[in-house]
Amino acid sequence: MNVAMPASGVVPPSEEFVAQANVDLATYNAMYERSVTDPEGFWAEQAERLDWITRPTTIKNTCFDFGRVSIKWFEDGFLNVAVNCVDRHLATRGDQTAILFEPDDPEAPARHITYNELSDKVNRMANVLLSQGVMRGDRVVIYLPMIPEAAYAMLACARIGAIHSVVFAGFSPDALANRINDCGAKIVITADTAPRGGRRTALKSNTDAALLHCSDKVRCLVVKHTGDQTSWVDGRDVDLNYLMSHAAPDCPPRPMNAEDPLFILYTSGSTGKPKGVVHTSGGYLTYAALTHEVVFDYHEGDVYWCTADVGWVTGHTYIVYGPLANGATTVMFEGVPTYPDASRFWQVVEKHKVNQFYTAPTALRALMGQGDEFVEKCDLSSLRLLGTVGEPINPEAWNWYNEKVGQGRCPIVDTWWQTETGGHLLTPIPGAHATKPGSAMKPFFGVQTVVLDATTGEEITERPAEGVLALKDSWPGQMRTVWGDHERFEATYFQQYKGHYFSGDGCRADADGDLWITGRVDDVINVSGHRMGTAEVESALVAHHKVAEAAVVGYPHAVKGQGIYCYVTLMNDVEPSDELVKELRAWVRNEIGPIASPDLVQWAPGLPKTRSGKIMRRILRKIAENDYGALGDTSTLADPSVVDDLIENRKNRD
Ligand code: ATP
Ligand code: MG
Repeated sequence: MNVAMPASGVVPPSEEFVAQANVDLATYNAMYERSVTDPEGFWAEQAERLDWITRPTTIKNTCFDFGRVSIKWFEDGFLNVAVNCVDRHLATRGDQTAILFEPDDPEAPARHITYNELSDKVNRMANVLLSQGVMRGDRVVIYLPMIPEAAYAMLACARIGAIHSVVFAGFSPDALANRINDCGAKIVITADTAPRGGRRTALKSNTDAALLHCSDKVRCLVVKHTGDQTSWVDGRDVDLNYLMSHAAPDCPPRPMNAEDPLFILYTSGSTGKPKGVVHTSGGYLTYAALTHEVVFDYHEGDVYWCTADVGWVTGHTYIVYGPLANGATTVMFEGVPTYPDASRFWQVVEKHKVNQFYTAPTALRALMGQGDEFVEKCDLSSLRLLGTVGEPINPEAWNWYNEKVGQGRCPIVDTWWQTETGGHLLTPIPGAHATKPGSAMKPFFGVQTVVLDATTGEEITERPAEGVLALKDSWPGQMRTVWGDHERFEATYFQQYKGHYFSGDGCRADADGDLWITGRVDDVINVSGHRMGTAEVESALVAHHKVAEAAVVGYPHAVKGQGIYCYVTLMNDVEPSDELVKELRAWVRNEIGPIASPDLVQWAPGLPKTRSGKIMRRILRKIAENDYGALGDTSTLADPSVVDDLIENRKNRD
């Protein structure tokens, strides 16, 4: 196969792709222009993609003055989110698969849940919640694995106007208890046990442990998923399957104001204590549906797969709400990319003839390291588009994705966004833009990005430019507040750069004006007066064939101000040596320049990551600085023991 990869590093979409795309360049330009010159007109029209009980007449009402930040979209409109994701599809596609469930065990049959069946389940679960005393505005914590019940539960809450807060099933009892308490949940919905990668997590006993630290009024609804034995507290624990089978299959949807909260979701905690991000109904769903259709070039009948977990915002917007609002078939995968082996993703693509595939760079790097035969043996001819999210993708992984998975045929949308933004903010539009490996490219409709000077806060208008990424004005999917702490909302996002939403991320605008995320602003290092994104050094390191993963942080350096400290995980069969340190130094010097030459290299068998696969550089910074006392909130770490190992090795090197 001929891979479209001109020397310039710019990859245009194929003519075939452009010919069938929802949005081509002329359309993008016209729609973008309209979205920023006439946002009210643009978004009033876009809101028409939803079914409203009362159509909004006031489209946008926002204030960004620090101390008075208030964001409202469609504020006099009424709708029900579950009706938009389920009921309104029944007449035309009741028998179409809504959720295609692929279990952890590859031998177990996949399940095709039609829109009719989804409706039945959501209505029953909504009635169960009502019977448990859940009322409009009450919080329901959902601590479920990647099973259809997670989507039913989210939509059941939406149907009755309860606010859900999904907690990733990989979290510990402590992390679960913190979230139940922070949002004051009345109910937690969990399952007996959760199979993942052939192992089982005892979710119910985790919940038991969590509830020891919560009000004794919190009830626990249990999905019997595996049938494994669990403990049972009479009066508190409720068998959800049993109640659902006895509940009425119709539950009148509650008309909700567009600005009523739909959910609270806690951020990953990469940079500090997780924040309870609040999203509301009308604006969020409009934005989710539009981005899903445009960015993934979704067409009627497509099989769409986002591999994220419903515990992350990506799972909310791009497994559940966006696809279902559009009447799509959305794949829900219970397992992991490497079980039973590193071909699982590709086998699922082959089996279900997936058209759009959306995953994270961390998964791609892990799979890339296992060798090409796992992907080459599968038939991936159904794929039309690929996407990534979660962190900057290094060009090495991008090229592998393009060549091996997309076979040079599928545009890659590198989507930059955050829990806070509700949906994509930066991304190439696949039928409109040529892509550049590692660049999130262009703002989505209604999104007005600015590059600010990190110290003065002045907007930098010339190109190329480097600075921090901020947003002017609002878009409908924007978060409205931090649950219970509006001041923290204002202080975190609106205080630093007056009148702007500050993303916390650094970026570079190239000569064409295309945007490259350089990582967290906290992760920018200043070496002898040169500002450098740590992502760039990491990207250079992992491009070396002996390096599997790398994390780079700054540390105090007597001469340079900050030195470059590299944590390097080597490929399985590579032995660490002083020679290799020299080799890597020379390599990075060669790739980026002498200024980026690593000062210290520490071999790291593992890196501290959040459960969503993001490296917690704040912890690595502390270790590099020899400051082990104040590591901060580590409750969202996937494997805390990694940190002890790193500290041990750090101590040994001094
Ligand atoms: P916390 O805010 O608690 O520290 P978090 O920022 O990791 O957690 P998320 O909202 O899940 O929580 O992640 C959003 C961040 O992920 C962005 O701010 C950005 O740093 C990174 N990110 C997401 N997508 C991309 C992408 N395509 N390219 C580069 N970075 C990305
Ligand atoms: Mg963040």
